Amino acid sequence: MTEPIYDVVVVGAGIIGLSTAMALLDRYPKARLVVLEKDATSATQQSGHNSGVIHSGIYYKPGSFKSKFCVEGRRTMAAFCEDNGIPTWRCGKLIVANSEAEIARLEALHERGLANQVEGLERVGPDRINEIEPHVRAREALWAPNTGIVDFRKVAAAFADKVRLAGGEIRFHCALLRAIDRSSHTVLETTSGAIETRHVINCAGLHSDRVALTMGTDPGLQIIPFRGEYFTLKKEREHLVKGLIYPVPDPTFPFLGVHLTQTMKGWVEAGPNAVLATQREGYSRWNFSPRDFSETLAYPGFWKMLARDWRTGLWEINRSLRKSVFLASLQALVPELTAQDLAGAGSGVRAQAVDRAGNLLDDFRIEQAGRSIHVLNAPSPGATSSLVIGQHVAELAASQFSL
Ligand SMILES: Cc1cc2nc3c(=O)[nH]c(=O)nc-3n(C[C@H](O)[C@H](O)[C@H](O)COP(=O)(O)OP(=O)(O)OC[C@H]3O[C@@H](n4cnc5c(N)ncnc54)[C@H](O)[C@@H]3O)c2cc1C
Repeated sequence: MTEPIYDVVVVGAGIIGLSTAMALLDRYPKARLVVLEKDATSATQQSGHNSGVIHSGIYYKPGSFKSKFCVEGRRTMAAFCEDNGIPTWRCGKLIVANSEAEIARLEALHERGLANQVEGLERVGPDRINEIEPHVRAREALWAPNTGIVDFRKVAAAFADKVRLAGGEIRFHCALLRAIDRSSHTVLETTSGAIETRHVINCAGLHSDRVALTMGTDPGLQIIPFRGEYFTLKKEREHLVKGLIYPVPDPTFPFLGVHLTQTMKGWVEAGPNAVLATQREGYSRWNFSPRDFSETLAYPGFWKMLARDWRTGLWEINRSLRKSVFLASLQALVPELTAQDLAGAGSGVRAQAVDRAGNLLDDFRIEQAGRSIHVLNAPSPGATSSLVIGQHVAELAASQFSL
């Protein structure tokens, strides 16, 4: 029997697994740490398929992990990018309202943003809206000047460099398959052999519930994948969007509604919607995994969610299938947009945890069980918050593990 080699194995080289590895190595420079990633490189899943928005923290319930981690996360992310030469643009976000109901929700959102101590928030009327975004037509809006954009793939790549510089390893093409608990350590069977470790940190995103089960922990939830589809704006129409234009979100869902975003990739994106995916990594509507979808169908929480939210689900499917419906959502923000302005683009899949009662978990969920820590729900603003989530996991590890 060989000695346990690693102090910590982190499962998943997404932005959160890498920030966690970085924070742990910062705290424990001598720790033997390896990040296992099933794909060929880092940030191939959620961390590389998102809107690239550095959120300011307006939306989240005061006192929640999301509110604390996002407000602090925005600052630390901006500072990290500046220190490491990663381009960002603080272009600001306009959240627009037209109907009485939207204006009432905008008011509530403003109060929430103030409670979360989001800096620089401003309620604006048509004249100021026209100055900020000349092509938006709205009665009122909330202006968040500190919201910005970045390419989170670049951030994840910088995190990976820092992990390696600090002495950590990253193994690609290495999927965790099974875990066998021994008295003092755990044997992880992977696609590239067995690895022994004293502690495991599960940052497996779309597969985090499965990895928890593999480790012998019942997560009490299941990941239900929601695909977010995007269009891009034709080059000659990009001038219609100066920064970030968002609707007032439906407060009963954790998704923000389709929006218009400048990106650091050099184009303007429209989206994402939120459609139930039949495969966890199902980036196209044609992707179908019998295993993934049968697991969704076998989960009682899915049926409870469906019983409550089936109208919204059908509406999202309709919007996904019919460009005209998608366009109508965008025209509520910028009326000049036409179907010819939109070209099909990529998508991302959100790892949304749903509990057994059918509730979509609103807050981040991070739990410790024995020698493991599981990041079980880290959807948006997870990328913005990644440095703070990594610190939080490292603190939890410091208090619970013997490192
Ligand atoms: C459409 C969309 C838009 C978004 N927009 C924003 C935004 O604008 N701003 C923002 O802050 N956040 C946004 N988010 C959220 C953000 O992208 C996520 O919170 C963040 O990327 C989560 O990172 P992660 O490391 O937990 O997950 P992931 O990036 O999914 O990484 C998990 C990794 O684990 C690996 N893995 C899984 N199982 C195994 C296994 N068994 N063995 C080995 N490896 C495994 C996967 O291959 C993957 O690389 C968005 C998300 C989506 C989907």
